[in-house]
Amino acid sequence: MNKDEIPTPSDLSFISAHKLPHSGILYELNTKESDAWFNIPSNRSNFLECFGTNVTIKDRSYHILMENVPIAFFPESTAALADTEKKAGIAPKSILKARYIKPIVRRSPNQRTAHIILTFKSRESANHAIKFRLSIASKKVYGHKLLPEPSRCLKCHLYDGNHMATNCPNEADSCGTCGESHRMTTCSVTDQNNYYCVNCKAKGHAAWSRKCPTFIGKWEVHKSETASHYTGSTQWKIPSRGRK
Ligand SMILES: [Zn+2]
Ligand SMILES: [Zn+2]
Ligand SMILES: [Zn+2]
Repeated sequence: MNKDEIPTPSDLSFISAHKLPHSGILYELNTKESDAWFNIPSNRSNFLECFGTNVTIKDRSYHILMENVPIAFFPESTAALADTEKKAGIAPKSILKARYIKPIVRRSPNQRTAHIILTFKSRESANHAIKFRLSIASKKVYGHKLLPEPSRCLKCHLYDGNHMATNCPNEADSCGTCGESHRMTTCSVTDQNNYYCVNCKAKGHAAWSRKCPTFIGKWEVHKSETASHYTGSTQWKIPSRGRK
């Protein structure tokens, strides 16, 4: 069977588009049929031709924080992931990635379990793992949806207040690279020593840097909040046909 022969769904459409940090846009398709059609490489490349040359498509993935996983679990082991999928009754290769949150070197000597992040291909399999738990390294473990990364306003580049550029309370733009009053896209500063972070009020790194101490601090709080406020009902909504 030639997969390329799936007919174009007559009602193919995007039901939402969200701007993401770091110049991404998250598009949501209306139906599973549209999704299947869109997953065909030739259809994807036709879609991409409508955009600039620097545009790529990334599939959306679903991150779950699983608590107290036995440290006997090796996240790099594809056999361990396959075993987990099989025991959970979810499709093979549903789990794209697994990793421990904390570096192994920071473990205490008598630590027996640790938290991991599992990345799932579909929200259905991620929800299944949350609802029915997973058996990892011979232990039933709980998981919940991982909160999104702290968001930074693309106008003032502050993490504070959790606002977005459209409702930024600051009148003037501030540059995410050098901190001056201009749009980041017009910035001419290229020397990293002259970068200025508006969040840390410090030179040497930009506000968009993943190594920004403010970003790291916020991210750590985010992670511990997710870990301490566990609720089994924190799942992804499954969109029905048309609108969720
Ligand atoms: Zn702002
Ligand atoms: Zn600048
Ligand atoms: Zn910073």
